[in-house]
Amino acid sequence: MDLMEKVVSLAKRRGFVFPGSEIYGGLAGTWDYGPMGSLMKKNLKDLWWREMVELRDDIVGVDAAIMMNPKAWEASGHVEAFTDPLVECKECHQRFRSDKPEEIKAHEHQNWTEPQKFNLLVKAYLGVIEGKQSEIFLRGEITNGVHVNFKNVVDSTRIQIPFGIAQIGKAFRNEITPGNFTFRSREFEQMEVQFYIKPEEEEGKKWFEYWKQNRMDWYLSLGIKKDNLRFREHTDDERAHYARAATDIEYKAPWGWQEFMGIHHRGDWDLKRHQEYSGQNMTYDGYIPWDIETSAGVDRSLLFLLVDSYYEDDKRVVLKLNPRIAPYKIAVFPLVANKEEITKKARELYLRLKLRLNTVWDDRGNIGKRYYAQDEIGTPWCITVDYQTLEDNTVTVRDRDTAQQERVAISSLDSYFQEKLK
Ligand code: ATP
Repeated sequence: MDLMEKVVSLAKRRGFVFPGSEIYGGLAGTWDYGPMGSLMKKNLKDLWWREMVELRDDIVGVDAAIMMNPKAWEASGHVEAFTDPLVECKECHQRFRSDKPEEIKAHEHQNWTEPQKFNLLVKAYLGVIEGKQSEIFLRGEITNGVHVNFKNVVDSTRIQIPFGIAQIGKAFRNEITPGNFTFRSREFEQMEVQFYIKPEEEEGKKWFEYWKQNRMDWYLSLGIKKDNLRFREHTDDERAHYARAATDIEYKAPWGWQEFMGIHHRGDWDLKRHQEYSGQNMTYDGYIPWDIETSAGVDRSLLFLLVDSYYEDDKRVVLKLNPRIAPYKIAVFPLVANKEEITKKARELYLRLKLRLNTVWDDRGNIGKRYYAQDEIGTPWCITVDYQTLEDNTVTVRDRDTAQQERVAISSLDSYFQEKLK
């Protein structure tokens, strides 16, 4: 099995990610997060939100509706230009993106139709009178819900330019070739900041560089290996319709360098167009601000974190996840399951730790098997309550990455983990 197959198999086996609607044969490009995956995803989003919104003075958050007035998508240019070039194989009628040369080359026939523009917006129908429903779009990116609220945010807070609006939420795209596990899905989540600045070249350059580095540093701080990350500037002809400059942060995936997230200089495109299409004034201090956007996929981040942290040797498989992202921080075991004093003590400790940190209980099988199971889901610390605990109120704490154990007093566990999770 190659690395990707191992990660996909572990993700399924241990409850990170399942194929969407699997019992009905699935639905291409959709994935369901299981017990471990949903915890990990929440940890990732919470961490992002904490660092982007809660710890900063210059960014506030919104949570806008997925369904929007269709005019918003005309204004943003998505109805006209949110397209990928589609080609069809004349022999087997499979469809591909003509801007993905690797996929085109790998196909068994080489007899293509001319490329056509294919719009990625997913349509939905709203209204209660059959036949008179109105066509709407599920948002193709989460950005629009931020821009349409620009004035609301300025008027309802004390924030001043330069400032950002952050959002996390689902987006939907009728991708021509969903694939590589969750990497390209038809339903996925994004985490974005639209950072509004004065419309000046120097400001634009300064903040564009700032956000590039800020995002790179964030991924490094999550523990992603430096050699697996790089910047890539977009060429003039690949830039999206709204972008004045665009750089991707790429990850060295098992199938080659791939886009992880994007930093886009959107200029005044969005606010100007919304002003034009809505007739509402979108200026701030008499000018239309520029927007430097950072846009990251939650699912892609999770996938690359899994791939990057996967480790195996002849004894064990370990997800060496950053403890802050790991689904559980701590697992608590009673050394034996049939000695009431030990079980009771372990249970008390488990319930106490659980109040502050995500903690899991395991009393099945032997300790070795329990370690193995926790390593596979990336739990950084396993605590065992044993006979010695009954005498001196200490426990063993076993470190996931080194597999070393140390004896720690129960009374100092809180500060022990606080220190580790700094
Ligand atoms: P690609 O060229 O890979 O299709 P894109 O350039 O269209 O991506 P953007 O529109 O810039 O992507 O979206 C910003 C981020 O949202 C991407 O960097 C990625 O992390 C995430 N993303 C975009 N499309 C998908 C998708 N289909 N599935 C999962 N994540 C996605």
